Amino acid sequence: MTDERTKFLLPEDQMPTHWYNLTPDLPTPPPPPLNPATKQPAGPADLAAIFPEALIAQEVSTERWIPIPDAVAEIYRLWRPSPLYRAHRFEQALGTKARVYYKYEGASPVGSHKTNSAVAQAFYNKQAGIKRLCTETGAGQWGAALSFACQVFGLTCDVWQVRNSYETKPYRRIQMETFGAHVTPSPSDRTEIGRQLRERFPDTTGSLGMAISEAIEEAAKDPHANYSLGSVLNHVALHQTIIGLETLAQLELAGERLPDHLFACAGGGSNLAGLSFPFLHENLTAGASVHVRACEPAAAPSLTQGEYRYDFGDTGGFTPLLKMYTLGADFVPASVHAGGLRYHGMSPLVSAAYDQKLLDAVAIKQRDAFAAGVLFARAEGIIPASESNHAIAGAVAHLRAADNDADGQVVLIGLSGNGQLDLPAYADYLSGTMIDA
Ligand SMILES: *Cc1c(COP(=O)(O)O)cnc(C)c1O
Repeated sequence: MTDERTKFLLPEDQMPTHWYNLTPDLPTPPPPPLNPATKQPAGPADLAAIFPEALIAQEVSTERWIPIPDAVAEIYRLWRPSPLYRAHRFEQALGTKARVYYKYEGASPVGSHKTNSAVAQAFYNKQAGIKRLCTETGAGQWGAALSFACQVFGLTCDVWQVRNSYETKPYRRIQMETFGAHVTPSPSDRTEIGRQLRERFPDTTGSLGMAISEAIEEAAKDPHANYSLGSVLNHVALHQTIIGLETLAQLELAGERLPDHLFACAGGGSNLAGLSFPFLHENLTAGASVHVRACEPAAAPSLTQGEYRYDFGDTGGFTPLLKMYTLGADFVPASVHAGGLRYHGMSPLVSAAYDQKLLDAVAIKQRDAFAAGVLFARAEGIIPASESNHAIAGAVAHLRAADNDADGQVVLIGLSGNGQLDLPAYADYLSGTMIDA
């Protein structure tokens, strides 16, 4: 029986002990990454220059359950298990008779789900004897997460931040520096590709694709350094599945059945994968029928408008070719506030699941996203991250759809982060100046 409680807190000793890998349950195996020169499947040798062996093994693993190392679990316990909430007051605000739950990742050290993978990646690199991690960041959520994780395991952290964010959004840079990281605006003069990009595009304010190229170049030329990516790749999706696995246990604590509908925002796809893949496991192996919807920004609609083909993950063409829904590696999105969603491609595993009709997708304009986010904040008291607003808006559109009798439905929303450092975006929305992109 469901009850009137609001928070469903899993005890620490019931935190999941394994991550879940969707690959073996996919009806059709996902197409492998390709070496761009030979167009043959990329082998461990293609990745070994920038990733530790353990993460490469996870990237290509066909094991269903992969154990979470004790040292990672110990750090996870600083904020995990994260809470699952029943959104009673949001339900009332919407006037819905559905039961709405949200899984909240905003109580992590940097306020988003990204620490779930950052801590794991730093751990495996430390274990492999690596001294320094190089990465890119847009608005700074991933850079902050990796800065924290490197600090925990005694690694140096070198972050290339998209120049536009570096110049206009100082707070996350300060967060990164507080955790001990070194932050460089990208494109920079520190790398060959950065110098080339600055020569070709003297006025560029940067992009994630450019910053990725710089971080990879730097990692590849230093034997003691590796590269680290905050989304997209299979091992990142894997680390995030602790979100959905906890949620399964928490719904049971709530006396609830599996959700009818699940909504998560999708940039590179990692929080969507993390929340939804354990539910897809139920669909694929236990006859469940959880409907999963990816909520992407209309400004970077890779699933709903992109093509499913091999493409590079970065502007410089340094990454292996990934089969994914993509808008093209040189796509430059409108400057919407949800920086974490402004990526040209989509996780190959999420892309495969979408191609195999295991989930669907909707593109959401940022004003609609913020309208939903403000409604949510006023009801629940949490100001959501700009990105998370897309998931809330997806749920709101579903619950308000005229042809939907939501009575008694169970709806689950992924609240991937809090918006404490996104307040300028809220100011833009509240003052009516936000562009309708
Ligand atoms: C980075 C970020 C996202 C988007 O990344 P995914 O890999 O698609 O999850 C979403 N929400 C928040 C709060 C983020 O920081």
